[in-house]
Amino acid sequence: MVSPTELRASDALDVLRRVFGYDAFRGFQQEVIDHVVAGGDALVLMPTGGGKSLCYQVPALVRDGVAVVVSPLIALMQDQVDALTAVGVRAGFLNSTQDYAARRTVEQAFVAGELDLLYLAPEALGTRGVQQLLDRGRIGLFAIDEAHCVSQWGHDFRPDYLALSMLHERWPAVPRIALTATATSATRAEIATRLQLTEAKHFVASFDRPNIQYRIVPKKEPRKQLLALLRDEHPGDAGIVYCLSRASVDKTAEFLVANGVAALPYHAGLDSVTRAANQQRFLREDGLVMVATIAFGMGIDKPDVRFVAHLDLPKSVEGYYQETGRAGRDGLPSTAWLAYGLQDVVQQRKMIETSDGDLAHRRNLATHLDAMLALCETVRCRRVQLLEYFGQPGTADCGNCDTCLTPPETWDGTVAAQKLLSTVYRLDRERNQRFGAGHCVDILLGKQNDKISQYGHDALSTFGIGTELREAEWRGVVRQLLAEGLLAVEGDYGTLALTEASADVLARRRTVTMRREPEKVASTRSAKPRGAATVVAELSPAAGSLFERLRAWRGATAKEQGVPAYVIFHDATLRQIATDSPTSLAELSRISGVGENKLAKYGESILTVLADQP
Ligand code: ADP
Ligand code: ZN
Repeated sequence: MVSPTELRASDALDVLRRVFGYDAFRGFQQEVIDHVVAGGDALVLMPTGGGKSLCYQVPALVRDGVAVVVSPLIALMQDQVDALTAVGVRAGFLNSTQDYAARRTVEQAFVAGELDLLYLAPEALGTRGVQQLLDRGRIGLFAIDEAHCVSQWGHDFRPDYLALSMLHERWPAVPRIALTATATSATRAEIATRLQLTEAKHFVASFDRPNIQYRIVPKKEPRKQLLALLRDEHPGDAGIVYCLSRASVDKTAEFLVANGVAALPYHAGLDSVTRAANQQRFLREDGLVMVATIAFGMGIDKPDVRFVAHLDLPKSVEGYYQETGRAGRDGLPSTAWLAYGLQDVVQQRKMIETSDGDLAHRRNLATHLDAMLALCETVRCRRVQLLEYFGQPGTADCGNCDTCLTPPETWDGTVAAQKLLSTVYRLDRERNQRFGAGHCVDILLGKQNDKISQYGHDALSTFGIGTELREAEWRGVVRQLLAEGLLAVEGDYGTLALTEASADVLARRRTVTMRREPEKVASTRSAKPRGAATVVAELSPAAGSLFERLRAWRGATAKEQGVPAYVIFHDATLRQIATDSPTSLAELSRISGVGENKLAKYGESILTVLADQP
């Protein structure tokens, strides 16, 4: 005899195969699904691309009633519903962008039990109307997506998420599953408390994203460096470029376009129509580069983002990991690239110092920045450091980050640090003056310029005592001292000042090991393309040309239906079709990503594309 749980487990696998067209569950998807199907609460932490959606979509189909999915991503609900509709799942959403008629249709479908999933914005759940609506239907489970939005210290805090603790009080019998891709153990505890998920079982996946290559390079001419990266390694690939300010988003997008890269801007200063249009194009068209502030990206589940580049330093490791995590959801090789320099440290320290909020808030910001700086300055494997930060120590060096691929040299920078710190000390003590990094470096290099002579700084005892290092190296010294808190920046002009820890270095109680600044930024010229071009290069010539034809067919079909190309099929599925070259519907149905609905809808067209001799 089959026990009820076995029956359910096999139901889940059946749903996975027939609806989604996948052979097997990944990681602990199966365990999460079994737990939720059986009525348990769950808190799921999986990196981006790990496969969180199926953790609630499969239970939604196996359990009786409608799964209510809470998501802050109103702009993406349509795409999520389209993707489900494409595999034959009955889904709808309610949010403020809808007209009355569309809303009514979804509400009626919900009450009649004709939906499998209903997407809601958190603010909607707070309204009486929606609560009464939910009471009229049958809820199978609640899924709370992007659950880290409930964390007040986090970077995506949404006040409406705090009210979600009421789900449990109002519908105590309905299981809840909260999901997020970002959380240190402290944030995880906070999520559990605030959402009243204290009884929930925690499922924590490895945070590693082995297909992403992490690289942090010294910033010289960031736009040119970026262009070189795109030309040498990611020609024609889709990617995201993050900048700190709206102005630099606009300038960078213009620069890329002027240099023949198809790029679009995205930031909160653009009107909402332009913003929505640019996001739509990025999702729907192949190979666009989105230049954006961090206002862009949450919930963007475009699977084939081949690179994420940062032209400015992110404010925290959490932010950095979440932003870079948008690359390579499909598991194919991708790049996370960050250009970082002295000016970033000065700017961010200054921003914290002058920010509103109490001391505790500023301390919190500083702690986050320090962790980010430590990642930038490390001479260890970047991935090992990232995973340790997320509470996963003990992994081996990855072989797929810049420090593994070209181990940085270190040097004993104690004497250099002393020279610099004593310059700052002398300016302060002997002259009661404070200056920025550039001027202090000029003093050490013994430069004769107007400012030096105006202030008579050629009379300082440290004038000209630092000619053994190049200017770039001195800037590196300042940067690393700032990163380690051995030096501070102050005020609107970002002038340098000593910290308590500086004294230890000056008194030789502490040595300082530094990363060597490269002579010039390593050229990526020799680097191989890593994006879509690699997919084709790895296929045989025949399969490569099939893949291109399938992509063209997919592009045309997507356009016709007004959905993103990946809603039709992912690159990985097309690649498999091109390699296997199936000749019947039965053969085609065995390929990962081809479920019953898509087989019925696109099977014949694909076989025609395959049979067509070019
Ligand atoms: P997340 O929400 O965790 O970022 P998604 O749910 O978007 O990740 O899944 C990432 C990708 O992996 C999607 O393209 C999805 O279709 C695919 N995927 C998820 N689970 C499986 C599986 N068991 N087998 C094959 N592909 C899967
Ligand atoms: Zn590494």
